[in-house]
Amino acid sequence: MSRFFSDKYADLTPYTPGEQPKTGVLVKLNTNESPFPPSKKAVEEGKRALESVNLYPDPEHTLFREKASEVFGVKKENVIVGNGSDEVLNFAFMAFCDEKTPAVFPDITYGFYTVFAKVNGVPYKEIPLKEDFTVDINDYINEKGTIFLANPNAPTGIALPLEKIEKILQSDRDRMVVIDEAYVDFGGESCISLLKKYDNLLVTMTFSKSRSMAGARLGLGIGSEDVIKDLNTLRYSNNPYNVNKTTLAMGYGALCDEVYTKENCKKIIENRAFAVTELNKMGIQTLDSRANFLFMKSERKSGEEIYRKLREKGVLVRHFTSKRIENFNRVTIGDREQTEKFIQAMKEIMEEK
Ligand code: PMP
Repeated sequence: MSRFFSDKYADLTPYTPGEQPKTGVLVKLNTNESPFPPSKKAVEEGKRALESVNLYPDPEHTLFREKASEVFGVKKENVIVGNGSDEVLNFAFMAFCDEKTPAVFPDITYGFYTVFAKVNGVPYKEIPLKEDFTVDINDYINEKGTIFLANPNAPTGIALPLEKIEKILQSDRDRMVVIDEAYVDFGGESCISLLKKYDNLLVTMTFSKSRSMAGARLGLGIGSEDVIKDLNTLRYSNNPYNVNKTTLAMGYGALCDEVYTKENCKKIIENRAFAVTELNKMGIQTLDSRANFLFMKSERKSGEEIYRKLREKGVLVRHFTSKRIENFNRVTIGDREQTEKFIQAMKEIMEEK
């Protein structure tokens, strides 16, 4: 730390992103990216946009928002576009949390939530998930802060049914609830339909997973017109040109090719089912995942050992060190070949004494 760094950040521990290996030799199953390339339509649109990057992008993201509103069945005034959904989530922490309104989220969830709270100087409360890693909605009903729930949750992959989210929304209409749907396309239920009834809901989505655009950085927030206006006040106060032209055009192209997205999700869901069956045969416990990853644990070998041995065999997964989940590893579901390599490596590891 330099002597110029503001005291307000002295205790800030930044988010640690998963490793991005510099060589392509590892089977990369550690950061929940898509194994499939972006849609051809997305690439075509992106290439065309490259030719006019001498001009700033449209700060209102008009064409993209129009297309997104058509695909998600809302009005364009209900949509904000971010540089990844991380940016929209950060705006939500800035907009809807303060000293009187802490951020509230599960103890085991997306690790960035605590960092967003800290960097914005807002208090936060972590509510333990139940023993089986599910959310007990009764824990949230009387909370006064802004609730953040990833659904499906990460790193567990467990989904919360829509009616339970509705119960939380209903229980206090003056409390904001942010549902992070980064992984919804792999078997979760989107709560966008609830926006018709509840203006205390913000849904965030990403193009990094099902739409194969992690490297382009594109995310969405969908909420009431007023909620979106608040978020835009912050966006225009930070970076009106937050999403670059190429990414916006690619996102537009991706939304014109929903068939491709759906096909890819179907393949991931099939590979996930295959991996679960094979892992369970080896006595590995897997949580019920509705996401493009599995959270797995062995009774016989520690999470750290499995992580290390997989890596030695060229398979990179994500290991977490916090107490409740230290024996688990999170494994991204890749294409069939990657999944088979992972399963083969696991078989070898579990056969060792
Ligand atoms: N939410 C969750 C639960 C995530 O796992 C991620 C990706 N790590 C994000 C949001 C952010 O995704 P992105 O910024 O790539 O849209």
